[in-house]
Amino acid sequence: MTIATVNPATEETEAEFEPYDDATVDERLAKAAAAAARWRTSTFEERARLMVGAAELLEAELPDVARTLTTEMGKTFASAKAEVAKCALAMRYFSEHASSMLAPEAIESKASRAEVVYRPMGPVLAVMPWNFPLWQVVRFAAPALMAGNVGLLKHASNVPQAALYLESLFRRAGHPDGVFQTLLVGSDKVEAVIADERVRAVTLTGSEGAGRSVAAAAGRALKKSVLELGGSDPFVVLPSADLDRAVAVAVEARVQNNGQSCIAAKRFIVHDEVYEEFTAAFVDAMKALVVGDPLDNATAVGPLALEAGRRTVHEQVTDAVEHGAEVLCGGAPLSGLGWYYPPTVVGDVTADMRVHREEVFGPVAMLYRAADAEEALRIANDTTFGLGASVWSRDAEEQERFLEGIEAGMTFVNAMVASTPELPFGGIKRSGYGRELSAHGIKEFCEVRSRWVS
Ligand code: NAP
Repeated sequence: MTIATVNPATEETEAEFEPYDDATVDERLAKAAAAAARWRTSTFEERARLMVGAAELLEAELPDVARTLTTEMGKTFASAKAEVAKCALAMRYFSEHASSMLAPEAIESKASRAEVVYRPMGPVLAVMPWNFPLWQVVRFAAPALMAGNVGLLKHASNVPQAALYLESLFRRAGHPDGVFQTLLVGSDKVEAVIADERVRAVTLTGSEGAGRSVAAAAGRALKKSVLELGGSDPFVVLPSADLDRAVAVAVEARVQNNGQSCIAAKRFIVHDEVYEEFTAAFVDAMKALVVGDPLDNATAVGPLALEAGRRTVHEQVTDAVEHGAEVLCGGAPLSGLGWYYPPTVVGDVTADMRVHREEVFGPVAMLYRAADAEEALRIANDTTFGLGASVWSRDAEEQERFLEGIEAGMTFVNAMVASTPELPFGGIKRSGYGRELSAHGIKEFCEVRSRWVS
């Protein structure tokens, strides 16, 4: 088991860490439990002051942190900077809104006083992925800490520097010892941490397989879990769409984060009437993207984060070709140093291909031709995932039809799927359960307590 930063652009190991032994994990769990007992009695004002302090530090350190993200997992420097800025924004948002989101709710009843209050659960374990190494953690930690919980982060093994940075950030902002800690451990230690009596709940963002393991471990320990898993989001283009805009957003929605986003548009389902026009413009735009050094400002698409990830993407594309798909651009790993995979468009996709059934975590777009809107909706829903969906139409009735008919946790019309602190984020079907962000997210790790006074 290695916990290391291996730069995906150079393939060089930049930092390596010894995983924590059991005694160190135990010490950290004890610290979390002790911190939780005190932190739950702190006021929203105190927590908000510290959270805003963390946001200010993060903003002051933005370029350095962004560079770490780029060298650790290959995202472009521009997108790394945007990720850091978004984290500070969410910290400020929850510092401002947590107290009203969690205010006691008076309930009309026969009691002289009946109310619902929200109380922190205590130490929450967060098992996190590498694709947005800061944002995935902050969107859990900002609301969870503001609610009075304490955080234990088990980050993906290839982003240890991001994990250690976050622990140091909260500590330097003044959060008491134990309120936010990183556990440098492999996934083999996760079940034991979930089972530990001092841990009250677990949240996982990651793949379906990890979701099954974590949910099973939480079930065995009878603990609350939230799962944010993969997606194969549809991007539906209908005849009334603004095609120029749809093409521009389609490219961005597919190649954001070098194609490694759970809410990246993956399956492009285009109405027959506009299929040829959309496809020609989309393929041209994908071909024109600059692939290269993620630290270079001109680069649109950097390397994939992991060599194994690139291998899987290419196996999925190869399987599609073997089953009759046509590669309209890209389609093979780039030679030379770095785990680069070019922007790729695969046409004539059918249901028997892996790219139809599985999540494709790289800059590969699958194209489908739909005879009419009904068929487009059917293809959109022909997936075990249900994370996000993007629909392009200027027809109000059609918009409603898709907003209601698409099986997804988040449906965006004439826009790309994105996360924002105000709206609940999460999926249905095999994309997971529970929500992050918004008032729904902050309540996931609160005890809902009923009070009745006669
Ligand atoms: P991953 O392999 O599932 O890893 C995610 C985290 O889970 C890592 O910390 C990993 O630790 C740990 N893990 C893996 N297998 C585990 C197991 N059996 N038991 C306990 N923990 C386990 O996912 P990834 O490759 O890092 O991330 C990509 C996936 O995350 C994609 O499927 C993507 O769609 C999904 N994702 C979903 C969302 C969302 O909000 N829905 C957001 C971002 C990403 P190690 O690194 O030590 O193995």
